[in-house]
Amino acid sequence: MKQIILILGLLSLAVNTLAEVIVLKNGRSINAENVWIEGEKVFYEGESGRVSLPKSLVVRIEEGSGEDSLHSSAQVDEEIVKELSGQIQTLPPDTEGVVRNGKVDEDRLKSIASIANQGELELQTAVKAYLIAAVFETLEKRIVNASRWAEDALRLARRNLDALLLAAHLDIAQQRPGEALDHLLLAQSMAPNSPDVLTLLGYAYYATEGPEKALRYWRQAHSLRPDDILQARIRKVESEGEVVADFTQSSSSNFQLSWEGSEIPSAFSREVLQTLESLFQELQTALDFVPREPIPVVLYTQEQFTNVTRAPNWVGALNDGKIRVPVQGMTSMNQELRSILKHEMVHSFIHQMTGGRCPVWLNEGLAQRLSGDTLQPIGVPLARRYAASRYIPLEKLEGSFMSLATADVALAYGQSLAAASIIESRYGAYQFPFLLKAIAGGATMDQALRQVLRLTYQGLEEEIASDLIRRYGR
Ligand SMILES: [Zn+2]
Repeated sequence: MKQIILILGLLSLAVNTLAEVIVLKNGRSINAENVWIEGEKVFYEGESGRVSLPKSLVVRIEEGSGEDSLHSSAQVDEEIVKELSGQIQTLPPDTEGVVRNGKVDEDRLKSIASIANQGELELQTAVKAYLIAAVFETLEKRIVNASRWAEDALRLARRNLDALLLAAHLDIAQQRPGEALDHLLLAQSMAPNSPDVLTLLGYAYYATEGPEKALRYWRQAHSLRPDDILQARIRKVESEGEVVADFTQSSSSNFQLSWEGSEIPSAFSREVLQTLESLFQELQTALDFVPREPIPVVLYTQEQFTNVTRAPNWVGALNDGKIRVPVQGMTSMNQELRSILKHEMVHSFIHQMTGGRCPVWLNEGLAQRLSGDTLQPIGVPLARRYAASRYIPLEKLEGSFMSLATADVALAYGQSLAAASIIESRYGAYQFPFLLKAIAGGATMDQALRQVLRLTYQGLEEEIASDLIRRYGR
């Protein structure tokens, strides 16, 4: 009898440490060490820390074999990192020598942490050391590392306000608003009128509950301590709020669709959602990636679209974290809308995959190629440009096209498509996810080309030129 109890005990231990599988509605599954449900979210331990998923995406959670684990690269929202960077205090005096030769000395940190339990002073020193490491890594834009140190500080001192704020900030930057909220609600209970707490709460609520609640917190923070960057964010969201206020919402497992209900028949919106879902499936395979958070899609009539984005006229649709598509006069799905949705959805996938680090030419090249664009309509003029060496070097197209002269915009898109097409035809479309993962891992475009395709930028330009001239040159 005693023996049976012992065996049962061992069994339950084994079950606890076995990997579990989170089965998603979209057909994919995630292997995870430790899965639990809180409210509307499913949490698990990912490679880069705790990860949350909306419960609506999950079919079931089962015990698994531990194989075929989904790679969970961290998603970093660069725009938020930039906006919040003003909130990061400069590095506190590093009296313990945590940062050495431009990097965190992990051995030093470990030895400081190992004596944290010996007394209050040792504990405070260890917390401070972790915070120094976290702030340093944040300033160096190594968000995943920073997050790890901030969480370590919190493990030692759960109610340390600096650690709570930094951890929340880093969660927001990594698009984990639910976890940020956990830290912030505790911080708020300790410092209810701190502008830092209120500002971060605004960001977390913006992602989880929408603009109205976020604006309340941001306005309160701004009135306590005026801040230009926050003011700009408030204005931007207010201008969006005016338009979105009379929109109705609907969502599927992977999308949050908003539109102007009075003008778009419900049959049409259902069609849009169905199309989005099927495009989502296609892109998961093409890019070997499953976005974690639902993708927001806003359908606009033409004039509202311009109001919200203030984008140059040549932009037909836009993706600034939300897919914004003008649909004035449309009543049913057609090929053009499908292709626009797919183009913008490629950007959403790539943004989440690379944390916004993907060079624009590759991003636009993939969006065009994967949404079915071909070189046929532009091949001849493009070939002429390359034959006369009057093209824009791809390296100059790594940044936004919004700043290009209007006359160069079409050329930039054409070259981007040509580059994606040549990579596809010479090296294989399966290389695209590898390129994106290299970039997500910190490689520059030049390094990613060398690592994945054994190709230099110049080599790529030469292949594009010879291919275009061969096919379309006259
Ligand atoms: Zn695009």
